[in-house]
Amino acid sequence: MYLIKTLVVCSAILLPVIHANAQEKAKPEDTEFWEPVPVVVTPGAGTAAPSDAIVLFDGKNLNNWVSEKGGAATFVIEDGAMTVTPKKGGIKTKESFEDFQLHIEWRSPSVVKGESQGRGNSGIFLQSYYELQVLDNFNNRTYSNGQAGSIYKQALPLVNACKKPGEWQTYDVIWTAPRFNEDGSVKSPARITVLHNNILVQNNTELKGKTEYIGQPKYVKHGAMPLALQDHGDLVSYRNIWIRKL
Ligand code: MG
Repeated sequence: MYLIKTLVVCSAILLPVIHANAQEKAKPEDTEFWEPVPVVVTPGAGTAAPSDAIVLFDGKNLNNWVSEKGGAATFVIEDGAMTVTPKKGGIKTKESFEDFQLHIEWRSPSVVKGESQGRGNSGIFLQSYYELQVLDNFNNRTYSNGQAGSIYKQALPLVNACKKPGEWQTYDVIWTAPRFNEDGSVKSPARITVLHNNILVQNNTELKGKTEYIGQPKYVKHGAMPLALQDHGDLVSYRNIWIRKL
Protein backbone atom coordinates (compact mmCIF):
# COMPACT_ATOMS: atom_id res chain seq x y z
CA MET A 1 0.00 0.00 0.00
CA TYR A 2 2.84 2.38 0.99
CA LEU A 3 4.61 1.54 -2.28
CA ILE A 4 1.53 2.37 -4.38
CA LYS A 5 1.04 5.67 -2.55
CA THR A 6 4.69 6.58 -3.12
CA LEU A 7 4.43 5.78 -6.82
CA VAL A 8 1.33 7.93 -7.23
CA VAL A 9 2.94 10.86 -5.45
CA CYS A 10 6.18 10.53 -7.44
CA SER A 11 4.25 10.39 -10.77
CA ALA A 12 2.29 13.48 -9.83
CA ILE A 13 5.55 15.36 -9.25
CA LEU A 14 7.56 14.01 -12.18
CA LEU A 15 5.03 13.94 -15.05
CA PRO A 16 4.64 17.73 -15.39
CA VAL A 17 8.46 18.00 -15.42
CA ILE A 18 8.78 15.44 -18.23
CA HIS A 19 5.95 17.13 -20.12
CA ALA A 20 7.58 20.53 -19.78
CA ASN A 21 10.88 19.15 -21.11
CA ALA A 22 9.10 17.72 -24.17
CA GLN A 23 7.50 21.11 -24.83
CA GLU A 24 10.88 22.84 -24.60
CA LYS A 25 12.39 20.56 -27.23
CA ALA A 26 9.53 21.00 -29.73
CA LYS A 27 9.91 23.90 -32.14
CA PRO A 28 7.31 25.79 -34.21
CA GLU A 29 9.08 24.58 -37.36
CA ASP A 30 8.30 21.00 -36.40
CA THR A 31 4.72 21.44 -37.58
CA GLU A 32 5.45 23.49 -40.70
CA PHE A 33 5.67 21.91 -44.13
CA TRP A 34 6.85 23.73 -47.24
CA GLU A 35 6.12 21.20 -49.97
CA PRO A 36 4.06 20.99 -52.05
CA VAL A 37 3.47 24.66 -52.87
CA PRO A 38 -0.13 25.60 -53.83
CA VAL A 39 -0.36 26.74 -57.45
CA VAL A 40 -0.94 30.47 -57.93
CA VAL A 41 -4.43 31.27 -59.30
CA THR A 42 -5.42 34.83 -60.13
CA PRO A 43 -9.00 35.51 -59.02
CA GLY A 44 -11.42 37.06 -61.51
CA ALA A 45 -13.02 40.42 -60.78
CA GLY A 46 -16.40 39.82 -59.18
CA THR A 47 -17.88 36.66 -60.70
CA ALA A 48 -15.43 36.56 -63.65
CA ALA A 49 -13.52 33.32 -64.19
CA PRO A 50 -10.28 32.81 -62.25
CA SER A 51 -7.10 32.20 -64.25
CA ASP A 52 -7.26 28.39 -64.11
CA ALA A 53 -10.95 28.01 -65.05
CA ILE A 54 -12.33 26.60 -68.29
CA VAL A 55 -14.76 29.19 -69.62
CA LEU A 56 -17.73 27.19 -70.93
CA PHE A 57 -19.75 30.20 -72.03
CA ASP A 58 -18.56 33.78 -72.33
CA GLY A 59 -21.66 35.19 -74.01
CA LYS A 60 -20.24 35.06 -77.55
CA ASN A 61 -20.65 31.53 -78.94
CA LEU A 62 -21.67 27.93 -78.20
CA ASN A 63 -18.35 26.42 -79.31
CA ASN A 64 -18.07 24.34 -76.13
CA TRP A 65 -21.60 22.89 -76.45
CA VAL A 66 -23.59 20.43 -78.54
CA SER A 67 -27.24 19.42 -78.60
CA GLU A 68 -28.21 16.49 -76.38
CA LYS A 69 -30.01 15.16 -79.44
CA GLY A 70 -26.82 15.38 -81.50
CA GLY A 71 -25.61 18.20 -83.74
CA ALA A 72 -25.15 21.85 -82.96
CA ALA A 73 -26.36 23.39 -79.69
CA THR A 74 -29.77 24.99 -80.16
CA PHE A 75 -29.85 27.65 -77.45
CA VAL A 76 -30.10 31.21 -78.81
CA ILE A 77 -27.47 33.84 -77.97
CA GLU A 78 -28.56 37.40 -77.31
CA ASP A 79 -27.03 40.19 -75.22
CA GLY A 80 -24.29 37.94 -73.84
CA ALA A 81 -26.71 35.26 -72.65
CA MET A 82 -27.99 32.00 -74.12
CA THR A 83 -31.64 31.04 -73.88
CA VAL A 84 -33.41 27.68 -74.15
CA THR A 85 -35.17 27.11 -77.47
CA PRO A 86 -38.26 25.29 -76.23
CA LYS A 87 -38.78 21.78 -77.57
CA LYS A 88 -35.39 21.74 -79.35
CA GLY A 89 -33.78 19.79 -76.50
CA GLY A 90 -31.11 20.44 -73.93
CA ILE A 91 -27.44 21.09 -74.57
CA LYS A 92 -24.30 19.58 -73.10
CA THR A 93 -20.61 20.40 -72.97
CA LYS A 94 -18.23 18.74 -75.41
CA GLU A 95 -15.84 18.14 -72.55
CA SER A 96 -16.47 15.68 -69.71
CA PHE A 97 -15.85 16.32 -66.03
CA GLU A 98 -15.47 14.51 -62.72
CA ASP A 99 -14.83 16.63 -59.63
CA PHE A 100 -15.22 20.36 -60.17
CA GLN A 101 -16.13 23.85 -59.00
CA LEU A 102 -18.78 25.45 -61.20
CA HIS A 103 -20.05 29.01 -61.50
CA ILE A 104 -23.20 29.56 -63.54
CA GLU A 105 -25.73 32.38 -63.79
CA TRP A 106 -29.37 31.90 -64.77
CA ARG A 107 -32.48 33.98 -65.27
CA SER A 108 -36.11 32.92 -65.40
CA PRO A 109 -38.37 34.91 -67.76
CA SER A 110 -39.58 38.31 -66.52
CA VAL A 111 -42.99 37.54 -67.97
CA VAL A 112 -44.44 35.20 -65.34
CA LYS A 113 -46.33 32.31 -66.86
CA GLY A 114 -47.50 29.01 -65.34
CA GLU A 115 -47.13 27.75 -61.77
CA SER A 116 -45.36 25.13 -59.68
CA GLN A 117 -42.98 23.17 -61.96
CA GLY A 118 -44.34 25.02 -65.00
CA ARG A 119 -42.74 28.39 -64.22
CA GLY A 120 -39.23 29.14 -65.47
CA ASN A 121 -38.10 25.53 -65.28
CA SER A 122 -34.71 24.36 -66.50
CA GLY A 123 -31.94 22.47 -64.76
CA ILE A 124 -28.23 21.96 -64.53
CA PHE A 125 -27.35 18.30 -64.94
CA LEU A 126 -24.06 17.65 -63.18
CA GLN A 127 -22.22 14.84 -64.94
CA SER A 128 -25.33 14.59 -67.17
CA TYR A 129 -27.30 12.53 -64.60
CA TYR A 130 -27.83 14.64 -61.49
CA GLU A 131 -30.14 17.65 -61.65
CA LEU A 132 -29.61 20.83 -59.70
CA GLN A 133 -33.02 22.37 -60.23
CA VAL A 134 -33.48 25.73 -61.92
CA LEU A 135 -36.98 27.08 -61.31
CA ASP A 136 -38.71 30.40 -60.67
CA ASN A 137 -39.69 29.90 -57.04
CA PHE A 138 -40.24 33.56 -56.25
CA ASN A 139 -43.76 33.39 -54.80
CA ASN A 140 -44.27 30.07 -56.55
CA ARG A 141 -44.94 27.03 -54.36
CA THR A 142 -44.03 23.56 -55.58
CA TYR A 143 -42.87 20.37 -53.87
CA SER A 144 -39.92 21.26 -51.66
CA ASN A 145 -37.49 18.77 -53.17
CA GLY A 146 -38.30 20.12 -56.61
CA GLN A 147 -37.74 23.83 -56.05
CA ALA A 148 -34.78 25.98 -57.10
CA GLY A 149 -31.59 24.85 -55.37
CA SER A 150 -32.90 21.34 -54.80
CA ILE A 151 -31.26 18.18 -56.00
CA TYR A 152 -34.37 17.25 -57.91
CA LYS A 153 -36.56 14.74 -56.02
CA GLN A 154 -33.73 14.04 -53.56
CA ALA A 155 -32.76 17.00 -51.39
CA LEU A 156 -34.62 20.22 -50.70
CA PRO A 157 -32.58 23.45 -50.45
CA LEU A 158 -31.80 24.73 -46.94
CA VAL A 159 -33.59 27.98 -47.81
CA ASN A 160 -35.38 29.63 -50.73
CA ALA A 161 -32.84 32.18 -52.01
CA CYS A 162 -34.68 33.08 -55.24
CA LYS A 163 -34.56 36.54 -56.74
CA LYS A 164 -37.47 38.00 -58.68
CA PRO A 165 -38.23 36.64 -62.16
CA GLY A 166 -36.18 38.43 -64.80
CA GLU A 167 -33.25 39.02 -62.41
CA TRP A 168 -29.93 37.22 -62.85
CA GLN A 169 -29.16 34.62 -60.21
CA THR A 170 -26.00 32.66 -59.42
CA TYR A 171 -25.17 29.10 -58.50
CA ASP A 172 -21.73 28.25 -57.20
CA VAL A 173 -21.30 24.51 -56.99
CA ILE A 174 -18.68 22.18 -55.55
CA TRP A 175 -19.17 18.71 -56.99
CA THR A 176 -17.53 15.49 -55.90
CA ALA A 177 -18.20 12.75 -58.43
CA PRO A 178 -19.37 9.33 -57.30
CA ARG A 179 -16.77 6.57 -57.38
CA PHE A 180 -17.54 3.00 -58.36
CA ASN A 181 -16.01 -0.42 -57.78
CA GLU A 182 -15.12 -2.74 -60.67
CA ASP A 183 -18.39 -4.61 -60.23
CA GLY A 184 -20.38 -1.38 -60.57
CA SER A 185 -21.24 -1.04 -56.87
CA VAL A 186 -20.82 2.38 -55.27
CA LYS A 187 -17.46 3.03 -53.63
CA SER A 188 -18.43 6.56 -52.57
CA PRO A 189 -21.59 8.50 -53.48
CA ALA A 190 -21.63 11.91 -55.18
CA ARG A 191 -21.57 14.97 -52.91
CA ILE A 192 -22.61 18.53 -53.63
CA THR A 193 -22.35 21.95 -52.03
CA VAL A 194 -24.33 24.80 -53.60
CA LEU A 195 -24.49 28.53 -52.97
CA HIS A 196 -27.55 30.19 -54.51
CA ASN A 197 -27.03 33.94 -54.82
CA ASN A 198 -24.16 33.47 -52.32
CA ILE A 199 -26.44 31.73 -49.81
CA LEU A 200 -25.76 28.12 -48.82
CA VAL A 201 -28.58 25.84 -50.01
CA GLN A 202 -26.81 22.44 -50.20
CA ASN A 203 -24.16 21.65 -47.60
CA ASN A 204 -22.06 18.68 -48.70
CA THR A 205 -25.24 16.80 -49.54
CA GLU A 206 -24.88 13.11 -50.39
CA LEU A 207 -26.77 12.02 -53.52
CA LYS A 208 -28.79 8.83 -53.62
CA GLY A 209 -28.26 8.20 -57.33
CA LYS A 210 -29.27 9.53 -60.73
CA THR A 211 -32.17 11.97 -60.91
CA GLU A 212 -35.44 10.16 -61.56
CA TYR A 213 -38.79 11.79 -62.34
CA ILE A 214 -40.64 8.64 -61.24
CA GLY A 215 -39.32 6.16 -58.71
CA GLN A 216 -36.32 6.00 -56.41
CA PRO A 217 -32.88 7.23 -57.51
CA LYS A 218 -30.15 4.65 -57.92
CA TYR A 219 -26.58 4.68 -59.18
CA VAL A 220 -25.31 3.27 -62.44
CA LYS A 221 -21.53 3.17 -62.90
CA HIS A 222 -20.01 5.93 -65.03
CA GLY A 223 -16.84 7.96 -65.44
CA ALA A 224 -16.31 11.59 -66.47
CA MET A 225 -19.46 13.05 -68.06
CA PRO A 226 -20.52 16.34 -69.71
CA LEU A 227 -22.39 19.13 -67.96
CA ALA A 228 -25.89 19.54 -69.42
CA LEU A 229 -28.58 22.24 -69.39
CA GLN A 230 -32.23 21.23 -69.53
CA ASP A 231 -34.92 22.27 -71.99
CA HIS A 232 -38.12 22.13 -69.93
CA GLY A 233 -40.02 24.29 -72.42
CA ASP A 234 -39.41 27.62 -70.65
CA LEU A 235 -37.35 30.59 -71.80
CA VAL A 236 -34.65 30.30 -69.15
CA SER A 237 -31.34 32.05 -69.92
CA TYR A 238 -27.76 31.36 -68.85
CA ARG A 239 -24.55 33.38 -68.84
CA ASN A 240 -21.02 33.50 -67.40
CA ILE A 241 -20.41 29.77 -67.04
CA TRP A 242 -17.00 28.59 -65.89
CA ILE A 243 -15.66 25.45 -64.32
CA ARG A 244 -12.50 24.42 -62.48
CA LYS A 245 -11.46 20.79 -62.48
CA LEU A 246 -10.47 19.63 -59.03
MG1 MG B 1 -35.75 21.20 -64.16
